[in-house]
Amino acid sequence: MDNRLVQTAVLGGPSSDSPLYLPPELLAAMAFRRRYRNRRYYCGRLLGGCGWELNNKLYRDRACHFAHLPGGPECGRIRSGEDSADHLFMHRALTGALREHGAKQRFEGTFSDGECTDLLVSNVGDAWTVRIQLVDLPFDQFSALDDELRGALGRFDWMVGPEADRTARILVNRDGYVVRIRCGEEEGERVVRLGIQERAAEDIEWYRLADCRIEDNGVVRPPTPAPAPTEPIGVDHARVLAIVVALRKACRSDDAELAIELITQHADVIALVEQPGLERERRVLTEINAWAFAHHRAINSVADGPAYVLSKKARRKLQAELNRLRESVQRRRPDDRI
Ligand SMILES: [Zn+2]
Repeated sequence: MDNRLVQTAVLGGPSSDSPLYLPPELLAAMAFRRRYRNRRYYCGRLLGGCGWELNNKLYRDRACHFAHLPGGPECGRIRSGEDSADHLFMHRALTGALREHGAKQRFEGTFSDGECTDLLVSNVGDAWTVRIQLVDLPFDQFSALDDELRGALGRFDWMVGPEADRTARILVNRDGYVVRIRCGEEEGERVVRLGIQERAAEDIEWYRLADCRIEDNGVVRPPTPAPAPTEPIGVDHARVLAIVVALRKACRSDDAELAIELITQHADVIALVEQPGLERERRVLTEINAWAFAHHRAINSVADGPAYVLSKKARRKLQAELNRLRESVQRRRPDDRI
């Protein structure tokens, strides 16, 4: 991407701290243009810009970008690429998270050669402050600053931007971890992400800041992962049908031995009825199971013949249930998983 093109602006006035990002792709840029149709935006002072009003230029065959309206001063802005307003996006996202119910906090940051090097964000009542460090600090400077900020602010923590790996390592060595912060593009928007670094920067798992919980004591809690959807275990349709048909037959002929054999042999299929949504199947198989095992025990305890026979009524009921079960299995398409 040509970094000389202007991809970022601020909304409302030259000194605004409300960042805008114009995505270079035409469709996303058209969405931007629709969204900010009647708004005015500027080459913001907090972007190291000249403060002049900007317009948007949309192209089919090259990157869309902002352009100064005619008549402005010579612009000395150094950074104007896609990440050039990330410090303002970080400020906005973090103040939003920390001061959800409190007064808005004006951007408070330091600039060097037209580039933001660090910023401070505090929660309601200034009980806790975050220093976002965007450029590396030599160790001595870091230590002195850490003492100074602790003295001035009380409770404060560091968050370290993507360009400050060395400072991140200092904090990992001292505390065992460091919270990293960076922006990335998602559907034409700059989205702020947080990650906890415990070892190398490459191992960080990133979460959208909006999905994290930042507690009053400054602890960042990444979102708890949603439980993985439980995939129903697949089972061969023809095999289930065969088992149900065989169980019907065993039941009709009062053959508990066969029923037990089927249930034991096909325990994996029988176990499937423990899944939600298969309550009826579960009930039928439980009844068959109970009948078969009761019958089996009765046979084994009485040497001279079966003492337990399914009553006519119970057998009719069981067979009707098995019929329904067979029909429901048959109704499913062969490739359905049950
Ligand atoms: Zn400018």
